Amino acid sequence: MTMQTVGRPTRPEDVQPLDTGFASLTGGRGLLQDEALIFERDGWGKTGVDLPAADATADDLGDLVRKSPIGLPGLSEPEAMRHYVRLSQKNHAIDLALYPLGSCTMKHNPRLNEKMARLAGFADLHPMAPLPTIQGALTLMDRLSHWLKTLTGMPAVALSPKAGAHGELCGLLAIRAAHEAKGDPRRRVLVPTSAHGTNPATAAFVGYSVTEIAQTEDGRVDLADLEAKLGPDVAAIMVTNPNTCGLFERDIIEIARLTHAAGAYFYCDGANFNAIVGRVRPGDLGVDAMHINLHKTFSTPHGGGGPGAGPVVLSEALAPFAPAPWVVHGPEGLTLVEETVEEAAQAFGRMSAFHGQMGMFVRAYAYMRSHGADGLRQVAEDAVLNANYIKARLSDVMTPAFPEGPCMHEALFDDSWLEGTGVTTLDFAKAMIDEGFHPMTMYFPLVVHGAMLIEPTETESKQELDRFCEALIALATAAKAGDADRFKGAPYLAPMRRLDETLAARKPRLTWKPEPGVAPAPLAAE
Ligand SMILES: *Cc1c(COP(=O)(O)O)cnc(C)c1O
Repeated sequence: MTMQTVGRPTRPEDVQPLDTGFASLTGGRGLLQDEALIFERDGWGKTGVDLPAADATADDLGDLVRKSPIGLPGLSEPEAMRHYVRLSQKNHAIDLALYPLGSCTMKHNPRLNEKMARLAGFADLHPMAPLPTIQGALTLMDRLSHWLKTLTGMPAVALSPKAGAHGELCGLLAIRAAHEAKGDPRRRVLVPTSAHGTNPATAAFVGYSVTEIAQTEDGRVDLADLEAKLGPDVAAIMVTNPNTCGLFERDIIEIARLTHAAGAYFYCDGANFNAIVGRVRPGDLGVDAMHINLHKTFSTPHGGGGPGAGPVVLSEALAPFAPAPWVVHGPEGLTLVEETVEEAAQAFGRMSAFHGQMGMFVRAYAYMRSHGADGLRQVAEDAVLNANYIKARLSDVMTPAFPEGPCMHEALFDDSWLEGTGVTTLDFAKAMIDEGFHPMTMYFPLVVHGAMLIEPTETESKQELDRFCEALIALATAAKAGDADRFKGAPYLAPMRRLDETLAARKPRLTWKPEPGVAPAPLAAE
């Protein structure tokens, strides 16, 4: 059966022959075996652990004692290891090749960061450990806060948000609290058409209605439209800078001025801070709140659902509303402000149960310290240089969406160069997989037709960039030469071919049930 019918692929009978007519007999592919679900590998008598029968549970739990098996699969340790390693080999990874997803900043995660994050004094802490016993961890949080405030030119930071989107929520909750404190709740948030989907979603989640601001021909916020849409009911504007077209908002100071003149706050989506870190301080531009994706700008890992970290820096006006906790210097060392009383009486509450993603804090701080202030500045310069190199090299064969002037950290192309070839952005992206490259971000931002957004990051060398560009140039040449079939059938060499992505997204099969007629395993092996 195929993904189209059961929402899960990889059965040997689905393996399609390559152009050579060759298909393996078992579903394996060049030293990589076909992989079933872990539940389908289940079997009794091979797990390596004997747990003694627990004797007291029945008395404590009474009627709540489980009567049916929990259904965990039984595998030996090597089988469990191999299952996950084989799955990982079916996936692409930043440690395999350049990962050009624009708007995601997939940069190398230095092993030094990993080593630091595994130090027992950070990794093994309990979140409720007494404060005098975790002074080192608090010191790291305090120094990370100092770096984030210094790099952004902002007086306050909330470390606890756990992702960019969570940081947006934190920023807008602070903005809502500030308006409410003035007795002026306001109703609307303005968001440019090129915004990341999380921006309008966050505004709606906080209870605001969203008004779109138009974009100019050259991919920036349309100031006239902004001015027309600002009004006494606008709580905030959310602008990404550099924006999702990979362009610096040249009028950002004017955007801030107009926003403040209307009594609104300026939320900056800082997901692209890696393009300007060390060169521009958002606080100097009039920003009131900005999240920083540690997992984008400061090289902590992301993907697979996290964990990310999205600290939010806040201006003087919003600082009193920052959520607990935060680190303060007391007479007996560092402590945490946990309660929303006294100096924290205006804090809008909390974003999470404890302090945030400690492991990400350690990695980000290790990255900052290993680069130093001058090194971080060079990160931004190299990220922008690399993106412009790609833009320049590919402009002969592909069409940049905004050809005028340099881009920032990502190069955006549209699909007008594919016109008449019968190849779409999707087909082109799928063909990249056969060449060993993860596709770029496709069809985003929505304001550009058939968008292809490429972000190389600063961690790629010129040789790696050339390898990538040469692959894309070869593909583009094939597309223009009329070899549409190569693209329509791609990918040929990946573990999976084309999947019904809509069905997989709309009707994912998230649970597994045993085949009918197969008896459930006994609660304990007799
Ligand atoms: C990645 C990103 C976000 C969301 O960040 P998450 O950490 O994925 O929640 C928001 N805005 C922009 C522009 C982004 O690139």
